[in-house]
Amino acid sequence: MRFLSCLRDHNLPLVGLAAWFCLVGSMITIRLLDRIRDAERGTRIAWVFLSGAAAGATIWCTHFIAMIAYQPGVEVAYEPRLTGLSLLLAILGSAAALHVATRRWRPSAALGGALFGTAVTVMHYIGMQAFVAHGMVRWSQGDVVASGLFAVALGALAFDRAQGRGRFSGHWWATALMVASIVLLHFTGMSAMTIVPFAPAVGHVGSSTATIVMAIAVAGVGTLVVGTGLATYILDAQARADTRRRLTELLEGNVDGMVIVQDDVVTAANAAFTALVGTDAAVLGQPLTRWIADLAAARPDRLAQLTLTAADGEIPIEVAVRVDRRRATPQTVYSIRDLRARIAQERRIAHLARNDSLTGLPNRTSFLEWMARQTGPDSPHRAVALLSIDLDRFKEVNDMHGHAAGDQLLTRIAGRMQAALLPNEFVARLGGDEFVAAMPVAEPDDAVTLIDRLRDAITAPVLLEQEGVEASCGMSIGVALWPRDADELSTLINNADLAMYRAKGSIASDACFYEEEMDETVRLRRRMVKELRAAIELGELSLHWQVQESVGSGEITGYEALLRWTRTNGDSVSPAVFIPLAEQSGLILAIGEWVLRTACATAAAWPVPHRIAVNLSPVQLGHVDLPRLVQQVLLETGLSPARLELEITETAMITDPVRTIHVLRQLKAIGVSIAMDDFGTGYSSLSTLRSFPFDKIKLDRSFMAELNGGPQSAAIIRAVLALGESLDIPVLAEGVETPDQLDFLREQKCDEAQGFLLGRPGPLPARAVESARLAG
Ligand code: C2E
Ligand code: MG
Ligand code: MG
Repeated sequence: MRFLSCLRDHNLPLVGLAAWFCLVGSMITIRLLDRIRDAERGTRIAWVFLSGAAAGATIWCTHFIAMIAYQPGVEVAYEPRLTGLSLLLAILGSAAALHVATRRWRPSAALGGALFGTAVTVMHYIGMQAFVAHGMVRWSQGDVVASGLFAVALGALAFDRAQGRGRFSGHWWATALMVASIVLLHFTGMSAMTIVPFAPAVGHVGSSTATIVMAIAVAGVGTLVVGTGLATYILDAQARADTRRRLTELLEGNVDGMVIVQDDVVTAANAAFTALVGTDAAVLGQPLTRWIADLAAARPDRLAQLTLTAADGEIPIEVAVRVDRRRATPQTVYSIRDLRARIAQERRIAHLARNDSLTGLPNRTSFLEWMARQTGPDSPHRAVALLSIDLDRFKEVNDMHGHAAGDQLLTRIAGRMQAALLPNEFVARLGGDEFVAAMPVAEPDDAVTLIDRLRDAITAPVLLEQEGVEASCGMSIGVALWPRDADELSTLINNADLAMYRAKGSIASDACFYEEEMDETVRLRRRMVKELRAAIELGELSLHWQVQESVGSGEITGYEALLRWTRTNGDSVSPAVFIPLAEQSGLILAIGEWVLRTACATAAAWPVPHRIAVNLSPVQLGHVDLPRLVQQVLLETGLSPARLELEITETAMITDPVRTIHVLRQLKAIGVSIAMDDFGTGYSSLSTLRSFPFDKIKLDRSFMAELNGGPQSAAIIRAVLALGESLDIPVLAEGVETPDQLDFLREQKCDEAQGFLLGRPGPLPARAVESARLAG
């Protein structure tokens, strides 16, 4: 009641102004309270000061405007020093209260609030000491105490609610409680005071215009102070929002998952992180350890490789951590990288480093490592068999059907070899058509089972998808045993290779075990192949010419081109030695092309257009490009096709008759003639002669050499001549060395002859006179 009657002594519009000011000031103070709590260490003092000034101004201005509104019916005045002191105490007290209220300890909010209530009380009563009224002032002790208790309790509640969560808390509740604390204190405090005038009231003593102006001035200055607080708060909030937006952009722009953790829960996370954990549920407010159990292992000083438990399984991740301790509540930023792609990549690279990219079989590196383990000092095996494997006729498939087909063949064969292995056995591709296999053995013969399985895997035909035809390879395997044949790995491999070359040269068997005497011969042959390869470039190859004559008239019918290899040191190697080597190594293709081109070019420059004969290897015949090569060479050199005769041996007809005949037909269509060389030595199958219309049969020189030895040779020569006559194919006898032999041929009506008697092969075509003419 006293409270209400006290209000009656007031100028109500001014009370309204005070209340409005109190409301606005409290609102701002409560917000600033939050801001101090957020402040980083360095700026906290500034925020405490600013907020203290705003809160102090709020209390003091509210009080002072309300005092101006008070009309006790006597003259009043204010003692300036005490009034100033009350303002100072309001500001300092508020600042202290705010400082305490924003400590991290939870009850400190209420404590700070109580301190605030105390500041309001102290400010009020000091301010009242400055109040000088023309009368006797009496105080009701009980009301004073009550007012103080109100202020302290409501202040404590206000600050506590400002920080609290849930019902009856938040800014608006806190503001209302703070306003209540100030207003109740003031009016309860005012009602505790009774003024007994010294003299009877002289008429009505109301608020003069001057005091109203003063109230407005106080409100104005107060607004300035509180407004400054508000403006700073708004500017700061704006700047913070900008920073936050930029931070969000940065977070979202990152391909790695980014998470900010404060007080052990996630306070921010980017889309990359939510995508990574694969959850639609809220991430914010959850502990990060929910997804990364061993998060503690992540330290600011090093990257940690951890596991993230996502909605659809475990994901390997790499976590980088940054802790920001400048804030009142330290925050930890986690950068989380998905390692799946990188791990897959690393696995692929590791696989590529150890496996052959075409067939997927282990490569040389893997093979050497495996062998090193099996044959090392602590090998568990008594013996290990090493198989060096080379495919036969693979080059032909490659040349005939193209590289894609060759690749397909290799891949299929490799797959079948791998599938044929038993545990403890190993196969690798070293390159091209070279493979190796290995297995621990008790007896050397144990390796035979592996050889048998590999033979099945390798020689079974493969359907070439693009061509729609089947192709197959043969194989040659050489076996060397550790430690019997060699202790050291490189020697062991070498020995297996030697055995493999032996197998390649053998018709009877496709697999050979290493024997000591293989070393020398094979090593020599290998060196020769190497030297022959160099010979083409060094210009050590040349052609010699041997004349061919008509037996009847003695006229020159042509010249055979014979290859010569004279080394730079003057040694010459017989073609009978190096041609087979060139054929085995594939060098014959390059050499044969050189022979063809050189022979045609040389003959094209001769003044007399003699026919020339060029020898073709069966390997060249297998080359699908031969007709095109011949045509191209003829075109380049300008030699007429009618002047070119190609000599082939029967071997080519035996290995692949269908293809050989196809190629021969194409050659014949160009206009060149085809001779059957060395007839009578090989199979001399009549079906060979029947299957293709040869232009000439060359009777092998061994028959001439044996002509004097007995009647059989003569009988054979006669038979061949008769055969040629009946098939209408001219016959040339090779190796004619004596006039008797030539006479015999003449008697038998042989068509042509060639041999030392008629002319030895030489760098220039034939007989002295002729060569001089041709050379000239
Ligand atoms: P071929 O094609 O039967 O060549 C004839 C061989 O008999 C030549 O030996 C020649 O010098 C030799 N010869 C000629 N007349 C007589 C004679 O009266 N008595 C004796 N004892 N021998 C005679 P060469 O030049 O050593 O060639 C040997 C083989 O090498 C040739 O046999 C041929 O199969 C091959 N060859 C030579 N040059 C080439 C070539 O350019 N390409 C190919 N693929 N093979 C070639
Ligand atoms: Mg020949
Ligand atoms: Mg011959």
